[in-house]
Amino acid sequence: MSQITPQPGILDIDLYVGGKSTLSGRDDVLKLSSNENPLGAPASATNALTEAATGVHLYPSTDHAGLRAAIGDVWNLDPERVICGVGSDEVLQFVTQAFSGPGDEILYPEHGFSMYPILAKMAGATPVIAPETDRIVDVDAMLAAVTKQTRVVLLANPANPTGTMISESDLARLADGLPEYVILVIDGAYTEYADGYDGGAALARTRPNVLMTRTFSKIYGLGGLRIGWGYGPKDLIDVMTRIRQPFNLSVVQLAAAEAAVRDTQWVKDCAALNADQRARLVGALRQLGVFCDDPHGNFVLARFADSSEADNAEAALNADGILVRRVAGYGFPEALRITVGDADQTGRVIDVLRQWRSGT
Ligand SMILES: *Cc1c(COP(=O)(O)O)cnc(C)c1O
Repeated sequence: MSQITPQPGILDIDLYVGGKSTLSGRDDVLKLSSNENPLGAPASATNALTEAATGVHLYPSTDHAGLRAAIGDVWNLDPERVICGVGSDEVLQFVTQAFSGPGDEILYPEHGFSMYPILAKMAGATPVIAPETDRIVDVDAMLAAVTKQTRVVLLANPANPTGTMISESDLARLADGLPEYVILVIDGAYTEYADGYDGGAALARTRPNVLMTRTFSKIYGLGGLRIGWGYGPKDLIDVMTRIRQPFNLSVVQLAAAEAAVRDTQWVKDCAALNADQRARLVGALRQLGVFCDDPHGNFVLARFADSSEADNAEAALNADGILVRRVAGYGFPEALRITVGDADQTGRVIDVLRQWRSGT
């Protein structure tokens, strides 16, 4: 590239690979590869975005006051400590970019979300991985991996792609064990699916170095619209706001998100459906001799005997028009990550796998 040199880390970035969305020769694909909501988006949100479309000639609010107030009301949080982004990915980028750079380390667990190394390298920082124990985040191993260079710890709870989670007391132990110069980011993309869990809100409310991120992409069914938010200590949020573009969220995004967050019945209904179908899918998989840890999100990590068995199971699902996520890149060549669908969709997955297992 001649005399022009990109910033450190950028050329080391492997481009993000999302879940597949098409199967050649089929237009009736059932996409269970990206943890999307089988019910789509709530009507409250799609109505709000249609209405907002009449105002797209006007610039959006720069302070997101309406959306932050709605988030504050619904989740009982101080809106002054909320920041909104283009998906939670952008909120994570605010943290990594604002608080780390070349020479610094960003720490995450072994099977951490594949955006984490990308975010570390975007900031010029060095990604560091701490081992898990049986696919569960190991707080002691995380603490042991902290160095003087560590600036940010990224942790999804529930985790993707394992679906496992650690208890609130383990999260608190991690927060308490970190040096004061390290920020703990609790990525709560799947919070609403984990019964009785606050996503790390209480920790982010009370600790000076804990941030929580949340998304509209999963239970709110708005992945295509790109909206997320973060909550944490006011001084950290203020720093992040300085590198947030003033018009990062459009009028349409803001309107849809505000309506969605106030639609608390939607979240309850979707969480209940997911819990039922998730239990059903796990039960069926285990009956077929496929290994699964207890899942806490809207997906199941189905572990087969080896990668060729996973290949075969995936081929059987694909032959029925069902797309699932290969997770070899996460260190699980023998596994498929299957999003939990509605009752019909889950039934279809179970039927295909039963037939595949019985060789018919
Ligand atoms: C899906 C997901 C997100 C959400 O990303 P958005 O940018 O909000 O769409 C964040 N973290 C994890 C671990 C996820 O699986």
